[in-house]
Amino acid sequence: MKVSLLTSILKGKCPVCRKGDAFLAKSIYDIKNMGKMPTNCSHCGHKFEREPGYWTGAMYSSYALTVAFSVAIFVLTFVIYPAASSWIYIVAISVGIVILAPLTFRLSRMIWMNFFSKYDASK
Ligand SMILES: [Zn+2]
Repeated sequence: MKVSLLTSILKGKCPVCRKGDAFLAKSIYDIKNMGKMPTNCSHCGHKFEREPGYWTGAMYSSYALTVAFSVAIFVLTFVIYPAASSWIYIVAISVGIVILAPLTFRLSRMIWMNFFSKYDASK
């Protein structure tokens, strides 16, 4: 059964086989272990960290995700409470960004990995 790109990113699966887990921690809010990844995919053996400093590039996707989450929180705040002052928006976005940071971290690495790895349905 073919797994879609979006599903594999959201579930944290290997970008090549889309079956092996890319993170050791099952929960995104397992703060102590959230950055721990196996060296290779348990299913196909794909090496996740291609070179030293590879994850530095994930900052680009992290930045884009943070902007998208900020805009979503802004719109949500506006819909819920249109008469909100600027401070309410600032606090809502700041708190939201902190709460979503583990999700942003994981998704940014998954997006970055999928830029450089091609899906192989045979694996
Ligand atoms: Zn794999």
